[in-house]
Amino acid sequence: LMGYVGFANLPNQVHRKSVRKGFQFTAMVVGESGLGKSTLINTLFNTPLYPPKEPLPPSTERPKTVAIESIGADIEENGVRLHLTVVDTPGFGDFVNNDDRHENRVNRQKIVDNRVHACLYFIQPTGHSLKQLDIEFMRRLHTRVNLIPVIAKADTLTDEEIADFKARILADIAHHNIHIFQAPSYENEDEETLAEAEEIASKIPFAVVGSDHVVETSDGRHVRGRAYPWGVIEVDNEEHCDFVKLRQMLVRTYMEELREYTNDVLYENWRSEKLLSMGV
Ligand code: GDP
Ligand code: MG
Repeated sequence: LMGYVGFANLPNQVHRKSVRKGFQFTAMVVGESGLGKSTLINTLFNTPLYPPKEPLPPSTERPKTVAIESIGADIEENGVRLHLTVVDTPGFGDFVNNDDRHENRVNRQKIVDNRVHACLYFIQPTGHSLKQLDIEFMRRLHTRVNLIPVIAKADTLTDEEIADFKARILADIAHHNIHIFQAPSYENEDEETLAEAEEIASKIPFAVVGSDHVVETSDGRHVRGRAYPWGVIEVDNEEHCDFVKLRQMLVRTYMEELREYTNDVLYENWRSEKLLSMGV
């Protein structure tokens, strides 16, 4: 379980060339402080990305993220290399900067690609609807990055509350014309791939639970999760939360699509906007 990321279960659509070169994938987390962004990054990649400099007393919480931190890791699985960068932020991604790329046609291939391929937007588990603040930030972000909304700390809501909250979030998103990432529909895919894509899409906004800890369940299993007096919420159990589906979407199934969409659509949008604003 630990150390498993899963990108080497090669999706058919992945090009051989990318496989040889390895992938470069950059994700970013955005949302209010305290919603579990740093914890989820750790959970996603299984390695403590923020090892405490000195051992902390047992009850000490993770240090608050105070600056934008970008963490890169090379992962290799069955001969497939992935260079993964995760950008952690102390709060809102006002600075999200797919603009910042050097325009240099001659040398395009040599430019280090530091664009953000996916942006996980953390929504507070209020159970009500989206806050005005969230709507404003999402509207700023959605033309620039693949926006993937997630419900933070889903262990604090009941299944029913989650279902209602998801419906309300999607309604708000639609009402405000916010574009969230949608997997492209495939023409010649096998049924299994289609079913998987549909299953993943049906979970958006993903209700996630993050945890650095391994806890013991009542039946004696050791799992990543959060312990409550009434039981354990398991991070990797699909009955308990959507963490597994989110990981599949990010790291395996849609990695190539997220990259292509970032390259083809979002970047070109930005370019034409920029050119227009320059009066070209
Ligand atoms: P950030 O400010 O968004 O990076 O949040 P942190 O990852 O630093 O987490 C803030 C607090 O929330 C810490 O005490 C975490 O242990 C706790 N936390 C993180 N993820 C979860 C979760 O999924 N459920 C619950 N109940 N608490 C969480
Ligand atoms: Mg943080």
